[in-house]
Amino acid sequence: MVDKLLTCNLCKGQMHLYRGPRYNRKVGGFLIASGAFTTLFWVGSILGVPLFLLGLYMTGAKRQLWVCRDCNTAIERIELKPKQKVIMEKNEQPQ
Ligand SMILES: [Zn+2]
Repeated sequence: MVDKLLTCNLCKGQMHLYRGPRYNRKVGGFLIASGAFTTLFWVGSILGVPLFLLGLYMTGAKRQLWVCRDCNTAIERIELKPKQKVIMEKNEQPQ
């Protein structure tokens, strides 16, 4: 991940790195709770264990966003293969 600060395309303000949860925490918590509950029953464990694991993944998953505090714009940068990344950065240069 590049640490260089980004400039906002809309207002030319400085963008800051923001790390937040990828999914809704309530949904993840609900899945953990319902997964744990169904696991209490013998038959339910077939369904309960995957639910529980999915819930754990959803509450733990994070994403990185660049946010502009002036106009509330948020962009997400994704990891690309090194070759593609170089081409992208060349195209992004201002005229
Ligand atoms: Zn902005």
